[in-house]
Amino acid sequence: MNVNQSAPPVPPFGQPQPVYPGYHQSSYGGQPGSTAPPTHYGAYNGPVPGYQETLAPGVSRAPPSLGAPPATTAQTPCGQAAYGQFGQGDVQNGPSSTVQMQRLSGSQPFGSAPLAPVVSQPTVLQPYGPLPTSSQVTAQLAGMQISGAMAPAPPTLGLGYGPPTSLASASGSFPNSGLYGSYSQGQAPPLSQTQGHPGAQPPQRSAPPQASSFTPPASGGPRMPSMSGPLLPGQGFGGPPVSQPNHVSSPPPQVLPPGTQMTGPPGPPPPMHSSQQPGYQLQQNGSFGPGRGPQPNYGSPYPGAPTFGSQPGPPQPLPPKRLDPDAIPSPIQVIEDDRNNRGSEPFVTGVRGQVPPLVTTNFLVKDQGNASPRYIRCTSYNIPCTSDMAKQAQVPLAAVIKPLARLPPEEASPYVVDHGESGPLRCNRCKAYMCPFMQFIEGGRRFQCCFCSCINDVPPQYFQHLDHTGKRVDAYDRPELSLGSYEFLATVDYCKNNKFPSPPAFIFMIDVSYNAIRSGLVRLLCEELKSLLDCLPREGRAEESAIRVGFVTYNKVLHFYNVKSSLAQPQMMVVSDVADMFVPLLDGFLVNVNESRAVITSLLDQIPEMFADTRETETVFAPVIQAGMEALKAAECAGKLFLFHTSLPIAEAPGKLKNRDDRKLINTDKEKTLFQPQTGAYQTLAKECVAQGCCVDLFLFPNQYVDVATLCVVPQLTGGSVYKYACFQVENDQERFLSDLRRDVQKVVGFDAVMRVRTSTGIRAVDFFGAFYMSNTTDVELAGLDGDKTVTVEFKHDDRLNEESGALLQCALLYTSCAGQRRLRIHNLALNCCTQLADLYRNCETDTLINYMAKFAYRGVLNSPVKTVRDALITQCAQILACYRKNCASPSSAGQLILPECMKLLPVYLNCVLKSDVLQPGAEVTTDDRAYVRQLVTSMDVAETNVFFYPRLLPLTKSPIESTTEPPAVRASEERLSDGDIYLLENGLNLFLWVGASVQQGVVQSLFSVSSFSQITSGLSILPVLDNPLSKKVRGLVDSLRAQRSRYMKLIVVKQEDKLEMLFKHFLVEDKSLSGGASYVDFLCHMHKEIRQLLS
Ligand SMILES: [Zn+2]
Repeated sequence: MNVNQSAPPVPPFGQPQPVYPGYHQSSYGGQPGSTAPPTHYGAYNGPVPGYQETLAPGVSRAPPSLGAPPATTAQTPCGQAAYGQFGQGDVQNGPSSTVQMQRLSGSQPFGSAPLAPVVSQPTVLQPYGPLPTSSQVTAQLAGMQISGAMAPAPPTLGLGYGPPTSLASASGSFPNSGLYGSYSQGQAPPLSQTQGHPGAQPPQRSAPPQASSFTPPASGGPRMPSMSGPLLPGQGFGGPPVSQPNHVSSPPPQVLPPGTQMTGPPGPPPPMHSSQQPGYQLQQNGSFGPGRGPQPNYGSPYPGAPTFGSQPGPPQPLPPKRLDPDAIPSPIQVIEDDRNNRGSEPFVTGVRGQVPPLVTTNFLVKDQGNASPRYIRCTSYNIPCTSDMAKQAQVPLAAVIKPLARLPPEEASPYVVDHGESGPLRCNRCKAYMCPFMQFIEGGRRFQCCFCSCINDVPPQYFQHLDHTGKRVDAYDRPELSLGSYEFLATVDYCKNNKFPSPPAFIFMIDVSYNAIRSGLVRLLCEELKSLLDCLPREGRAEESAIRVGFVTYNKVLHFYNVKSSLAQPQMMVVSDVADMFVPLLDGFLVNVNESRAVITSLLDQIPEMFADTRETETVFAPVIQAGMEALKAAECAGKLFLFHTSLPIAEAPGKLKNRDDRKLINTDKEKTLFQPQTGAYQTLAKECVAQGCCVDLFLFPNQYVDVATLCVVPQLTGGSVYKYACFQVENDQERFLSDLRRDVQKVVGFDAVMRVRTSTGIRAVDFFGAFYMSNTTDVELAGLDGDKTVTVEFKHDDRLNEESGALLQCALLYTSCAGQRRLRIHNLALNCCTQLADLYRNCETDTLINYMAKFAYRGVLNSPVKTVRDALITQCAQILACYRKNCASPSSAGQLILPECMKLLPVYLNCVLKSDVLQPGAEVTTDDRAYVRQLVTSMDVAETNVFFYPRLLPLTKSPIESTTEPPAVRASEERLSDGDIYLLENGLNLFLWVGASVQQGVVQSLFSVSSFSQITSGLSILPVLDNPLSKKVRGLVDSLRAQRSRYMKLIVVKQEDKLEMLFKHFLVEDKSLSGGASYVDFLCHMHKEIRQLLS
């Protein structure tokens, strides 16, 4: 046996290698360990115990013809690029959400409900702001209170890991760390690397465990799971659940500032806890405050609010005190604290159930057995053991998976492992792939599957001896035994029709109708393609891309082009029978760019001229996709269609659409039809595309309603992307379009992909969200998948979970690379399981939770009235928080709002989702905008939803001009704007530069090259290039923000008090919105009320 001899010299995989050389083992004659998978996707058709439900993936489609478009379209002038960037809808995949929507009845309509009782601020209240980010507030004390009892400010702690007791007890087998689950030892990296950062340990670390500072109520009080006992049962194994860097140690009593009256969790609870706190009276309405009557309402500015802007109002004499915006949890503070605490050290994935840093924190990842959070993020890293607990908590258990995520240059791409002819080693029963959690037994001759417990033989060529701890001695030489993420080369069994795939093809399909020509789009695009074709994705260091290209133009008919290299000039073939689409040529249609360069260049020069005088305004759409798909089918390859389209396809043809926009449907039971496709033809077409591995990217250039909800069905179901440029004009929009196009054409795509998520016994994947197609309940089919797209998976219990073994996820993506290689990418993640709800609440990830809840709600609007969807979100949020209050928080007055530390931003973020254009549209938002955003969010990752729902607002002149770092953000509220300053606001799609009316003249001059505020052009989208530090800094910042996002953000300059400011204010999400969305403060009060109702 000399398996090891070719193993790489550096065990921990120092550098990325395309194919891991040590793993070619075909010379061993052994039989494949698993029976060869049959047919098509053998890889995916193993028995799947436990899978049952088959919910109809369909969308109820009811395309009522709704007459002429309402006049409202006209309300959105094209210039309003903020919305011009939106546009489209999709189709529901997976089970219908109706059930869940209905289950959460009984919630009160929020918008119209009388506002929650005022929560007055007691005089002793500490400002929340610089609060310890209670991040360090103990678990049980993790209560954050709004009213009477603010958490006292404990000293800032470093990257704390929990109290030593929990570590010591964490794992019998690894007394030193308790960090490496069952799969690491021996060659495990030094403790200091993974076990946190002893140097940064807060002094409190040596303090007694949290429980010591807390006396549980004698009886009758709320249960304090896991807090009162010396040990958390949930921490028995593997990870240090209590010791999450984010959720640590209790503030010692002595840090309480003098005079602070502790009425709740964070302090040393006085034994005389009762509903009556000293100094406070429980008011009739239940709110908590020093005996003040209810406050009138929340509509007016808060005390101290700036009086500029649209709410001038005279200073109010002795304004009534109400909830201080500074006293409620601040997203900015939480983000900053996490950056400070967790941004400096790499996140090492060897610890089971470890909550990663926030998506807003820059950190490096070291793969030591679990997939990087760049690939998988979970709503919670500690799953309740039973479904009863899970139901009680109402915290959705979901993973947001980005299988092909791009990594920063410092992190290595997954290793490619080649197991030779036998293919990847898998469990015979559940078909899970070999991974670090598989347990080798019987001297290494067999292994027990960590997912289904089946005992499998180790094939002879894979045999290796075990060391004294039962670990294979080659574990660290093999990615699949030591890393969370890796790839396998797939054998022919994993290929369609048992045939290795051909390299994929790109087909460019260009609308040449009147609008496309007149706007300058066609000329711009053809010019760009000449150089862009040199940048097609290629594999590794390949000299040229393997991808072939083809060209089609169309209006009411289609024109195919023969660009064979031997031709002197391209040849056009017209197909006017769009009802029965066929591809008129095979040879010469899909070509290698370098070979056919002269012919292609000639074609791209001629296209704008050929159609320059066109009068054709009508277009077809479905036949274009059909043609592209047929061409790929004829060429027997997968690929991508790039469609550049301008108008509602009203020409007589399959997939013909009519204008059915009707804003009158908003807030009616029929509103959902606006999000549904108006015909089933596109879904049928999409299904054919998926079968062919034909992914469709759609670039829309509409001047009016184009029915984004219908046009986006195919891109959505084929894993494609949609871009929308309303009222496209070359001079204003070319930068944005070309930037998006370049990125889209160049990005690495996996084609003809199938994704399967396997789980260990006890939980299973039940629901899926994203841009893909599903023909059964388990396989996510993706004609294409790029590095920006996520698939969100929800899990449910089907059995009891075990604290000791935890829960495992394995995501396997079978795909064809851009060079035509068939591969499997595997991501593994181990989670903790708990019997105490407090452990769940301590290990949640609110950003991921919001990502899931937004996707769930955005799918819900396809089937339910929007109001029902909103109410369901509110109810669920209240249930989550009420369950915490009831089961995990220390006893306190009902007048206090107590939020779990990890979820203290849940209300503010959820409110942003509720106020979003899809769920509560303003008057300026078009039906197409809403459908577009709905479709976009479906595939967003956690970082994208985070900034999309809660935009970043950066003051530009507050920090020193020399400072090269990004200025610290401020909260998204008008109150935070100073009229002497300039701000940038971005949400991943939009970018505003807001200029205050009293900005110094010098600043105006430096930035805009005009002498006064009044001379600045409102709506300006390009800043003049000026040679001064401020101009350079601001333009540099704009560039840097753009570089961080997957789509180009067009800049819009907004002047204070200008008309455009209304648009800008829409993004100040902590404020009340014009469309009726609640302010953060109001929403928090409402949430408090809902929670109290649930608890009473
Ligand atoms: Zn198995």
